[in-house]
Amino acid sequence: MIRPLRCAAPLAAALLALAASPLRAELKVVGTTEDLATLAREVGGDKVKVEALARGYQDPHFVEAKPSFIFILAKADLLVAVGRELEIGWLPPLVTQSRNARIQPGAEGYLDASLTARILEIPQGPVTRAMGDVHPSGNPHYWLDPGNGRKVAKAIETKLAQLAPADAAYFAGRYADFDRRLTEAEKRWDAAMAPYRGLKIVTYHRSWANFTDRFQLEVIGYVEPKPGVPPSPQHTLDLMAEMKRLGVKVLLVEPYFDLKTPNSIGRETGAQVVVMPPSVGGEKEITDYIKLFDHDVALFTKAVAAAGGR
Ligand SMILES: [Zn+2]
Repeated sequence: MIRPLRCAAPLAAALLALAASPLRAELKVVGTTEDLATLAREVGGDKVKVEALARGYQDPHFVEAKPSFIFILAKADLLVAVGRELEIGWLPPLVTQSRNARIQPGAEGYLDASLTARILEIPQGPVTRAMGDVHPSGNPHYWLDPGNGRKVAKAIETKLAQLAPADAAYFAGRYADFDRRLTEAEKRWDAAMAPYRGLKIVTYHRSWANFTDRFQLEVIGYVEPKPGVPPSPQHTLDLMAEMKRLGVKVLLVEPYFDLKTPNSIGRETGAQVVVMPPSVGGEKEITDYIKLFDHDVALFTKAVAAAGGR
């Protein structure tokens, strides 16, 4: 009985010292998606510990809410969310159940990454989720324009500096380095995509609004009649007629959708069906934000060439 007590005293003292040590002040950051998590890693470096909730190969609108997410959220100092109602179907109850006051919406440790991003397709008239549309607050897939990636990284830098002012210069340096590497990469992507400006394509979901805006592709239709609504036979027939009329050669599909309808559209119209990941983690080799565009730009240009698109 005496021995554990003798050991416990110095152990407790050591734990107290550890708790008080500034070396321990690593911020715990949670990104709702791998895209946000990788941007937080770029800026936070080794001063932060970052985890993602949704995996890059999952549909970010419909993520299975695992109990483990609650434990991750309970310990977080900062939660970075995509916003624009992308996570509305799964995130809010998890944040409530985490009972973590730091990361509740409106608290200092909650960052809505969409607030500084350029958002497209903001509805003009009334749109509700009851109509089946999962984009009632504008297009939430805005990270697919590298310009928005830069804006989100900047917002994360500002927030991290607010939460850990002693490390503000470190975060500013990390952001500047990311900004420089992203600017270099953008020149590469713009050059690779330049020959395809004005190319008419079709996509399954409205995931690519910012991507196609950035690289000046023209989306003439979607396999989904509305974002979040599965294809119907009549809509598919109308879409195929339009694709034939306009000579559309490329159909982009996110990896989490069934290929049955896209493949039959491809057979009927001669368009190439390209499964293109919209997120970091969508393929094993897509391990960071810059690699996401490297991968997708290479995939897209190769597919268009194979389809004889240009
Ligand atoms: Zn969507």
